[in-house]
Amino acid sequence: MTASAVDPTGRTVDHVPAGAGSSGSGPAEADWAAAVAAVEDLPPDGRVQLICHVNPDGDALGSMLGFGLGLRRRGLRRLRATFPGPPEVPEPFRGLPGLDLLVPATEAYADPDLVICFDAASESRLGELVDRLETAGTALVLDHHASNTRFGHVNLVDPHAAATSVVVEELLARLGVPLDAGIAECLYVALSTDTGSFRFEATTPAVHAMAGRLLATGIRPGDISRRIFDTRPFGAVRLFGEVLSRARLEPAAAGGHGLVWTYATLDDLTRHDQRPYVLEALIDSVRCTAEADVSCVVKQTGPGEWAVSMRSKGAVDVSRVAVALGGGGHRFAAGFTGLGTAADVVGSIRVQLDGALITPGA
Ligand code: 5GP
Ligand code: MN
Repeated sequence: MTASAVDPTGRTVDHVPAGAGSSGSGPAEADWAAAVAAVEDLPPDGRVQLICHVNPDGDALGSMLGFGLGLRRRGLRRLRATFPGPPEVPEPFRGLPGLDLLVPATEAYADPDLVICFDAASESRLGELVDRLETAGTALVLDHHASNTRFGHVNLVDPHAAATSVVVEELLARLGVPLDAGIAECLYVALSTDTGSFRFEATTPAVHAMAGRLLATGIRPGDISRRIFDTRPFGAVRLFGEVLSRARLEPAAAGGHGLVWTYATLDDLTRHDQRPYVLEALIDSVRCTAEADVSCVVKQTGPGEWAVSMRSKGAVDVSRVAVALGGGGHRFAAGFTGLGTAADVVGSIRVQLDGALITPGA
């Protein structure tokens, strides 16, 4: 589906959404219309609560803040953005435009006129804020996870979109909000995070075309990428060294495609004086292992509780492993909450891997 019929931003080139292409299972025209109406029908003093998923990443925060800035440009003033859990923004995202919209979860509107959820595949990703789906006048869901459970009144879910920010850009265009540098920087952070800096398979021509529209606002990709991907405290460099040195390779796992994994404890974080979010980048240093299709990092979040990140190079659908273990995600990037010891958690993954092998041609 293209938006060439509706181009309120006055773009001169027909705009193919970066999610378009494959089987057209994105939002129906009626869903777009309902989402536009949900925003256009708000009174000027309407209260809008924006929520992204727990432990927000670049796509969650960038999509939420970029859309928030767009709503502000439309003249809405009662806007709050938040996410469940501690109100701590990971250091790489502390320079994002629109951060002044952010409030702690405890200060979210109790009964907003409109709640909009970003990059959350299921209600569970909203944590303690899940009740807003009931108390809000309307609940709008913007997402790109194939496993999305359509938990809003209006759902804009495009599993072919490389990032939730692709859906956000399209909705802003349909609302007549032009891209400015602030919105563009947020959406660029979101798009570049979820495409692994335009390296993953989801990096279609339409993704680059969207990046082109964002860059045309004058944002500086070098500065942004250095901040988001290439900056970390020395303590984190040392922590990575220690955690990587205990990585294990299991060539026979996943039907012989191989598994590589490591874990990090809260004690590791304390010893190196680091915050949990620094571990988000760790999977990238593990998944480069040539001898393994599947990679996994098990990150302790509490006593006997672990946040698990999994990646696959194509032989295994790790979202099936994640869903079987109570989580979710995409075919080649997924996660879940694991219980017990790190070895227990890896054991539970190992058992699921054979059932998650992708049959060639399927
Ligand atoms: P990451 O490993 O970067 O944290 O997450 C990779 C993907 O898996 C993301 O799309 C994320 O939304 C999903 N994911 C990670 N952890 C969980 C989880 O605990 N529950 C669900 N439903 N999805 C998760
Ligand atoms: Mn995303």
